[in-house]
Amino acid sequence: MPEIPRMLVVGSVAYDSVDTPSGKNNDQLGGSATYFSVSSSFLTNVAVVAVVGADFDPGDRAMLSDRGIDTSGLVQVDGNTFRWSGSYREDLNDAVTLETQLNVFADFSPELGDAHKRSPFLFLANIDPNLQGSVLSQMSTRPKMVACDTMNLWIDNARPALVSLINHVDILLINEAEALQLTGCDGVASAAENLLESGLKAVVIKRGEYGAVTFHREFTFAVPAYPLISVVDPTGAGDSFAGGFLGYLSSVDDTGHDAIRRAAVVGSVMASFAVESYGLDRLRSLSASDINARFNAFVELTRFHPLGGGQGLPVRPQFNN
Ligand code: AMP
Repeated sequence: MPEIPRMLVVGSVAYDSVDTPSGKNNDQLGGSATYFSVSSSFLTNVAVVAVVGADFDPGDRAMLSDRGIDTSGLVQVDGNTFRWSGSYREDLNDAVTLETQLNVFADFSPELGDAHKRSPFLFLANIDPNLQGSVLSQMSTRPKMVACDTMNLWIDNARPALVSLINHVDILLINEAEALQLTGCDGVASAAENLLESGLKAVVIKRGEYGAVTFHREFTFAVPAYPLISVVDPTGAGDSFAGGFLGYLSSVDDTGHDAIRRAAVVGSVMASFAVESYGLDRLRSLSASDINARFNAFVELTRFHPLGGGQGLPVRPQFNN
């Protein structure tokens, strides 16, 4: 039997056209599963389940498999590859979707191979929740950890399927705007509290340049975004975050609290690289020392010395008591 991947991801493989303050770039390789798998491939052994059309460049598949990504579940059929176009002209933290063409994803019904069904970590990247649910239901053993992401299109068009999916996953990673849209709440803390009631172990709310907050049932942990001088293309930041987050957990085979906090930092590290260039250009060219150097920069960025000896802050007495 083929090797069981440590991580399985289902999501989109796409050609994206983006308009950012740095300019436009058309038909760049993207998609939620693509960013996730490239990002997590630095840390773990990952397999992709997705569909592409006859127009898919064989060089793009080779780029993924050359990185050790298992593309045996990347099916190619007649028709066109998924296409998304978006603009960040208004706000670098929030993509405005100009067009979504599902193309070959409209009729995709994945069938998992036996090895894929036994992956211990599963990421249901942003795609139709019915498809995410179909992959989850085919797993032969309940993975150690199942996480998912989603976006406004599916909250609008497939809410019942999405809500029932969320009841079966451990961790939801979601953008701030989408967390508010999904819950009807007006702040991230109340949205997270609402989402945790559905049985999730944790909700990770991604806040673009303001970082990400992990609301776990037993703790809350915030990590900043790396303060970059120049952000070229925010596309894929969320999926690269998820790839670092879950890739780290799967590589250490640990889902404890300390590992989850560290995973959130690794997520922020990978997202910070993704936005430095168009598409996957920066992410795919990283070395181990680039990743470690930025991880250490995060340690420094968030380091402060607590007060020793059980002392509190030297707060002056209140004058009104
Ligand atoms: P993010 O990491 O959140 O920036 O996600 C960016 C990727 O999401 C892009 O590469 C798009 O191809 C992909 N995408 C956009 N809309 C959808 C959608 N409705 N379903 C699946 N993937 C999408």
